Amino acid sequence: PNPASSNFLRGIIEADLAAGKHEKRVGKDGQPLPTVITRFPPEPNGYLHIGHAKSICLNFGLARDYAGRCNLRFDDTNPTKEEQEYVDTIIDSVKWLGFDWKDGDKEHLYFASDYFDQLYAMAEYLITAGHAYVDSQSADDMQKNRGNFGEAGKNSPFRDRPAAESLDMFRRMKAGEFKDGEHILRAKIDMASPNMNMRDPAIYRIRHAHHHRTGDKWCVYPMYDYAHPLEDAIENITHSICTLEFQDHRPFYDWILERTAEGGFFNKPLPHQYEFARLNLTYAITSKRKLLQLVEENIVDGWDDPRMPTIVGIRRRGFTPESIQLFAERIGVAKVDSWIDMSTLEGALRDDLDEKAPRAIAVLRPLKLIIDNFPEGETVECSAPVHPHHPERGNRTFPISKELWIEQEDFMEVPSKGYFRLFPGNKVRLRYGYVVECVGADKDADGNIIAVHCTYFPDSKSGTEGSANYKVKGNLHWVSAAHALEAEVRLYDRLFTDAQPDAGGKDFKLALNPNSKEIVKAFVEPGVSAVQPDEKLQFERHGYFVADRVDSKAGKPVFNRVVTLKDGWGK
Ligand code: ATP
Ligand code: MG
Ligand code: MG
Repeated sequence: PNPASSNFLRGIIEADLAAGKHEKRVGKDGQPLPTVITRFPPEPNGYLHIGHAKSICLNFGLARDYAGRCNLRFDDTNPTKEEQEYVDTIIDSVKWLGFDWKDGDKEHLYFASDYFDQLYAMAEYLITAGHAYVDSQSADDMQKNRGNFGEAGKNSPFRDRPAAESLDMFRRMKAGEFKDGEHILRAKIDMASPNMNMRDPAIYRIRHAHHHRTGDKWCVYPMYDYAHPLEDAIENITHSICTLEFQDHRPFYDWILERTAEGGFFNKPLPHQYEFARLNLTYAITSKRKLLQLVEENIVDGWDDPRMPTIVGIRRRGFTPESIQLFAERIGVAKVDSWIDMSTLEGALRDDLDEKAPRAIAVLRPLKLIIDNFPEGETVECSAPVHPHHPERGNRTFPISKELWIEQEDFMEVPSKGYFRLFPGNKVRLRYGYVVECVGADKDADGNIIAVHCTYFPDSKSGTEGSANYKVKGNLHWVSAAHALEAEVRLYDRLFTDAQPDAGGKDFKLALNPNSKEIVKAFVEPGVSAVQPDEKLQFERHGYFVADRVDSKAGKPVFNRVVTLKDGWGK
C-alpha cells in the first residue's frame, strides 16, 4: 500500500487482518475466501460520475492493495428506473478506470436481481420468525403513524397480525393479487426508536413493473435497505463501504444480518458497513438528476460532453485513468463532508500528462507572419524534441518557410510595458528556427492587422553555432503556412462560474459559464496529421489536448483542450 494514501479504512482493514477476523471462511465451493472482499454497487439508473470514480478507486484499490477482491454488483432492485444501456456504460467505465472484478479466472460481476429468490425466501423466514409483518394501512396512515423526529411513532393496527396470516398475505402479494401500494411488508423492530430507520422499515413492496433482467417474473420487489446488507452477506463482503448519508441506516443493516444469521442463512463474521465522505467537487455537480437535466435541456452536448463530470465525459475530455486514480489517492478518504477543489483534479492530470504527452505546436488564433528576406518557395527543416525531458524519445521535424502563422497575441503594434514579443523594431526567436526582427504590419481598410512583416538572420538558427550570438527575450511558436494542418480545436473551460453551483438549493442554471466552449480553426504542426483518436499531446505554451475520440479523423483532426498548462482560473 502507498503510505501517502493511508486512511482510516486501511487502518480498519489492517486491524481485521491482524486479528485474523475473516480468516477461516470458505465459499460455496469449499475454497478459502479472500480476507478482504469489497464491492462497488452502482444502481444502473444513470451514468457514473467523478464521485463514483472515487468510490471505485477506493473499493477496487483496497482489494488490490490487500490481495483481496472487489465485486462489481449492479443494485438493480428498482425495476422502473433501470436499463441495460446503463449496465453497459458502467462496465465500460470501471474497466476504463483500470479495474476488473476477476479473482484468478473467476469473474465477480453480479446482479442483485439474481438474488431475488433468496431475498424472498429470507423475507418468508422473517415473517415466520415474527420479525416481519404485512401492513395494510394506507400510505398516508403509515406516514402519519411513523411519527416525527423526537416523538414516538404509533404501532400499525396490523402489527400483531398472526405470522401465518402475514405469510399468506405476502404470498398473495407475490402472486399478483393486489395492486401497487395496497400492502407492504415491514420489519418488526421498534416504532418508538429515536432512529427513524428502525421504525418498522418497509422491506418489500408491490410493484407491477417490468424488470430489465427478470422481466415480469416478480411483482414484489425488495427495498434497498433490506436488499443491500443481504446482497453483501450473500457475496461474503467483509468491508461494505458507503457514503455518510447511510450512517443512520447502519443499525438496520446490522439488525437484518443478525436476524437472517439466526435463521441459518449466514455464518459469522457478518459484513460490516463503513461510511466515508462523498466527493463534492467545486465547479461541478454530481447529482444524477441534475446531470440528466443538463443533457435533456441541451445545455451540454450529451452525457459524454467533455464538460460533464461523468466518467464518459472526462474520458472524452482527455483525462487519463491514471490521473483519476492519482486524484483519488491525493484526496484520501475523510469522515466528514467537504469540498475538493477542481484544481486538485486538474493538477493530477497535469502531473500525469507532463511525463507522457509528446509535444507539438499549434497556433490557435492565427496571424500571418511574412519573412521578407526569406527566399520564396524555399524551406529549411527545423527539429524539436518529442519530449524535453526524454531525449530517448527522439525528435520531430517541420519546415520553416517565408510565410508562417503565429498567435495574434504575439504581435502588438504599440507594445504595452514589459511586452517582449513582436513589435516594430523588436527581435524575437521563432522557436526551433531563426531570430527575426519585426519591420511592420499590413492593415485592412478598417485598421485591423492582417499580416506582420519581419526579416530573419540566416546565421541564427537554433542548434547552430551562430545562434548563441543572439540574445532575445521573446520565444514564439509558429507553423509554416504552406505546410501546417488545419484543425478544429475545442477550447473547453469549466461549466460553471460558481464554485458550488448547486449548494444550498441554488439554481445551478444561473451559474453556467457562457464561455465554457469555444471552437477555433487552428493550424498545427504537419506531423500531427497522424494523430490517433484519444491520443494526448501538449501544444507548447497552450496546454494539454486530446484528439477527440468521436470526431477526430486521420488527416482531419479535432482536438479538445483538456487543461491549460498552469492553473489560471480566476486570474
Ligand atoms: P442514486 O441517487 O441514484 O442512488 P448514487 O449517486 O447514490 O445515485 P449509486 O449508483 O447508488 O449512485 O452509487 C454507487 C456507489 O457510488 C455507492 O456506493 C455510492 O455511495 C457511491 N457514490 C455515489 N456518489 C458518490 C460521491 N459523490 N462520492 C463518493 N461516492 C459516491
Ligand atoms: Mg444510491
Ligand atoms: Mg444519490
